[in-house]
Amino acid sequence: MLRSVPSPGGPVSERTNADIIRIVSKWQAAGFIHELTCRVDSRHEALVPVEREGRVVLACPTCGAVQEHIPAVVLGSEAVIDYNRAQAEEALAAHERRAARQDVWFGVAVILCMMTILPGIVGGAASAAVGGAIGAVTAFLYARRAFRKIDASTDPASPPS
Ligand SMILES: [Zn+2]
Repeated sequence: MLRSVPSPGGPVSERTNADIIRIVSKWQAAGFIHELTCRVDSRHEALVPVEREGRVVLACPTCGAVQEHIPAVVLGSEAVIDYNRAQAEEALAAHERRAARQDVWFGVAVILCMMTILPGIVGGAASAAVGGAIGAVTAFLYARRAFRKIDASTDPASPPS
């Protein structure tokens, strides 16, 4: 059963210092938005949220300058950052899936070379033809298994083929 419990020091909607530090850290690490930088010199390292005398301030790791004001847009950004991070992770997973498929084709090429060219060098054209035929079957089985593994590991929504 759910019931609202007042948190110490204020209503649940109020952000704790831990909340503020978490949100500011996400903003600073997001990568796709400009991080909060030092007012002394914007080339200094990105500001770090720290707790000073009970409240969160932004400190410059390079020169130690402290900025007390945290922009409201930063504090309200958590949902957007989480959404964008999820999108980015999805894109990365799709990229890895493509990369894995390319790896499979490379494996197929290696198998075909091993089974065709090497027997050809050692045993001549007849061996190359036999090796090539075996290699083609081996490569086909290898690719089919590898692609199934990729689909199973990266795309659980797709029905098994
Ligand atoms: Zn600085």
